[in-house]
Amino acid sequence: MAPYASNDLRLLTESVRRFAEKELAPHADELDREERLAPGIFKRLGDLGILGLTVPQQFGGAGLGAVALVSVMEEMSYADPGTCLSYLAHSLLFAHNLAVTGSPDQLRRYLPDVISGQLVGAFAMTEPSAGSDVLSMQTRAVLQGDHYVLNGTKMFITNGPVADVFLVCARTGDDRKDISMFIVERSMRGFSAGNRLNKMGMRASPTSELVFKDCRVPIENRVGAEGESVKTMMKNLDIERVGLAAMSLGIARACLDISLKYASEREQFGQAIVSFQSVSEKIANMYIGYRAARALVYEAAQVIDENRRANQEAATAKVFATEMATQTALDAIQVMGGYGYIRQFPVERLMRDAKLLEIGGGASGILRSVIVKEFMRKLHPKADHSKTDHAKAEQSRVAASVKPVGQ
Ligand SMILES: Cc1cc2nc3c(=O)[nH]c(=O)nc-3n(C[C@H](O)[C@H](O)[C@H](O)COP(=O)(O)OP(=O)(O)OC[C@H]3O[C@@H](n4cnc5c(N)ncnc54)[C@H](O)[C@@H]3O)c2cc1C
Repeated sequence: MAPYASNDLRLLTESVRRFAEKELAPHADELDREERLAPGIFKRLGDLGILGLTVPQQFGGAGLGAVALVSVMEEMSYADPGTCLSYLAHSLLFAHNLAVTGSPDQLRRYLPDVISGQLVGAFAMTEPSAGSDVLSMQTRAVLQGDHYVLNGTKMFITNGPVADVFLVCARTGDDRKDISMFIVERSMRGFSAGNRLNKMGMRASPTSELVFKDCRVPIENRVGAEGESVKTMMKNLDIERVGLAAMSLGIARACLDISLKYASEREQFGQAIVSFQSVSEKIANMYIGYRAARALVYEAAQVIDENRRANQEAATAKVFATEMATQTALDAIQVMGGYGYIRQFPVERLMRDAKLLEIGGGASGILRSVIVKEFMRKLHPKADHSKTDHAKAEQSRVAASVKPVGQ
């Protein structure tokens, strides 16, 4: 594990930490209350140079890998997980995904403005009836002359209410895997976004339904060959999962720091509450959980950067880190007693934010199936695992391993 192995990475992490301390943390409570992103936030993140972190340099990106990405995401999430989730949808689900799968013409047309923050991006795979079983999606794209006509509804789309460009997955044939991916612009006729969904947490990050009603998309906006997007649309999942796990690290570290400060200042029975064993034990366990999760997250990121199959590592890191963060936030509330439960301190917000990370990008239940399926694959390499329950789950959400970041 070498999260801070290079000086360049250390400098990047420190500059993001300074930015996040100054520009994100002071507004996190207000943005959560008002359910909105800070005005101009994508342009400011563009100026910081992190919107195309994993995009190759020839398309305006920084050409870095998953290890760099997780260290940036931990810092941003430490300051404001809601804004960080929108950053993930923009820079990873849209920009990274397009960089990996798009044609040079598509990259030239869209990536410079996405990386500068002029345009906001989003990724639309989930539907009202197709979540974990995403290959059962019903949104359909039919070729008519030089356009595809899209009809259907997407659900839970991060940045849906504010994005300018969307990578949208739609069915182009009757086979379960006959799915293609399209770049849809907000201004295209037949596209509309629903109202913001009123969420428990991650409230700064806007989420909505997307509706496609005879939405006409030019043929040159199809990403890759028709009907062959299953592998490519899944390709991003390992790095997405590691990114979401890194967000959990930021939340857990914030909870630990807040709890430690509070417990060493708050006095009851004439002494700081940190001196009571039940309190100090919780704080020690928070630290142990954070450090263990951090090791898993950086290990998975390293495997991705080495272009090795990473689905078991990414699933393991995501399950452990996300569940650890929720428990850490709950423990922080307990350490702070009544003050933890009211909105004067951010731990109740962090608890609400943490819970999403156990659901998005593959819920913990599915990911546990992925972990076992990988063992089965290694134990019985010649068996057809597509007949097992684990495999059905995996076919839905798990991909072939990610291409080397930056190619
Ligand atoms: C705030 C938010 C933002 C999101 N952003 C995006 C986005 O930008 N783009 C996008 O495409 N999607 C997005 N999603 C969708 C997200 O990825 C899905 O919510 C997630 O994949 C789970 O799908 P589901 O909610 O339909 O739950 P379901 O699939 O209905 O699952 C419900 C429960 O059943 C369990 N389960 C289901 N099948 C299995 C199985 N085979 N084995 C074990 N357990 C199983 C799950 O683990 C889960 O606990 C977002 C969701 C939220 C809440």
